Amino acid sequence: MATMTAISSCAATSCAYNKDGCSAEAVTIADGASCGTFVELDVRGGLPVAEGHVGACQRLECAHNADLMCTADAITVGGDTARCLSYTAS
Ligand code: SF4
Repeated sequence: MATMTAISSCAATSCAYNKDGCSAEAVTIADGASCGTFVELDVRGGLPVAEGHVGACQRLECAHNADLMCTADAITVGGDTARCLSYTAS
């Protein structure tokens, strides 16, 4: 894998890493396809800009998953539980 999967958009605006998109350098998508990095805090953190990536993905049954990493060019995240909306059943 040459590059990490980009997070092209994230609608979870209550997340401490959300700055008009994901600013965490690398997130983990958890087994249920919710973002495991999502957290609500009184501070905002992460990179200065929304250039987040997927560092790891535990959703083994997704068609984009290889070796517990994401092979898609980019994903979108949304919904109340910050789910990966690019999940594709294999
Ligand atoms: S597209 Fe599939 S493999 Fe990639 S982050 Fe989403 S659930 Fe994981």
